[in-house]
Amino acid sequence: MDSAEYERKIAFRFAAFDQDGNGYIDRADFSAAAARLLAEFGTAARSDRGQALYTGAEALWQGMAGIADVDGDQRVTREEFVGGAVKRLRDSPERFAEIARPFLRAAIAVADGDGSGTAAVPAVERALRVLGASAETAALAARSLDADQDGRIAEDEAVAALADYFTVVAPDA
Ligand code: CA
Ligand code: CA
Repeated sequence: MDSAEYERKIAFRFAAFDQDGNGYIDRADFSAAAARLLAEFGTAARSDRGQALYTGAEALWQGMAGIADVDGDQRVTREEFVGGAVKRLRDSPERFAEIARPFLRAAIAVADGDGSGTAAVPAVERALRVLGASAETAALAARSLDADQDGRIAEDEAVAALADYFTVVAPDA
């Protein structure tokens, strides 16, 4: 990967987290993501599933801030994201899985109509679109998330995919 491609990939990943597009990642981006998912799937914020999603989003924000918010101003800038989140998460994918799992588990529960603990591929595609992915990217990602191709996406598949999303970003890859 050349440096221009690396920069482009970093920009995409940063933008994915910067849900309100104001140039930094903070708590509001995570609560906005939770709110969008709840609205898309018609789930009340005060419901058990809604509360679990907000709790998971807060844990994901706290985890990212703990790793990447170097100056402690409760904002992760693009520089902090590159130096902290991407590098440290790449070095420690299991740590990332730990901080992301509650959010992903809750998101699957919100997108899942039948309480099976997995979400159907089209539901995951909807979730990715509402979080800002293009139609093409969402379709491709949802299909590739279904690693065992049973038409449903389980928590472990989502955790592994999100960890990969970071670990593939390396200037020397
Ligand atoms: Ca933001
Ligand atoms: Ca900061």
